[in-house]
Amino acid sequence: MFKKMISLLLVLLLLLPAASAMAELKRGSRGQEVKTLQEMLIELGFLNDKADGIFGKKTEAAVKALQKYWGVNTTGRLDDDDLMALYDLYFLATGVMEGDGLDEEELREIYPAYCSWEGKDEWGGVYCFRHQEECQVSGQLMPENAPKKLEELLTGRVCALWERDIFAMYEEWEDSLPEEDRHIAREQRALFETALKEYKPGLEKMLWIEAQGIDLCFDLHGAEAQPLEEEASGA
Ligand SMILES: [Zn+2]
Repeated sequence: MFKKMISLLLVLLLLLPAASAMAELKRGSRGQEVKTLQEMLIELGFLNDKADGIFGKKTEAAVKALQKYWGVNTTGRLDDDDLMALYDLYFLATGVMEGDGLDEEELREIYPAYCSWEGKDEWGGVYCFRHQEECQVSGQLMPENAPKKLEELLTGRVCALWERDIFAMYEEWEDSLPEEDRHIAREQRALFETALKEYKPGLEKMLWIEAQGIDLCFDLHGAEAQPLEEEASGA
């Protein structure tokens, strides 16, 4: 994993400065960019082949599968924006860049509020800032056209992230209670742990754990959280 991360970061360093000048990748393209593209497509389950740096028939089919997954025209060609979107998907699915990326202010703009599904983004949901990473990763999953491998990667990461945060929230809850009430938080946590064991990895577990996390987050943080800023300033 560590080695992979290093090699990927090196590739990124090589690629990114040239990204704006980079031509689109299509059938017949060759070189390091194609190899990196193939490595990502293989890792995400779109391509079952070796990364040889030559954009042939199989790579083209894999790119079309990726485009189908995205719900865009299946041209079999990728421009710079497509490649950046693929990097995003790759990093979110593999967690390679965990903790990196956007700064806090940028994140707040995208995920401004609290755990709730009643707000307003393009899917009609408002995401919690604390839990934006989970939402970012699960937002990448379009189960219908996802290769098995990608679905496993994304659902696995979402579950791991929520698990980490849910346990942290139970701890936080317990600490916030007076000594004599702390057993309540511990009992709820035990119930969660028992239910968690019922689930095999996969989409169903992801949807369940996401609902658990959102409920808990909203119970704990809902009161302190403010609605979207525009609403708050209007009040
Ligand atoms: Zn939350």
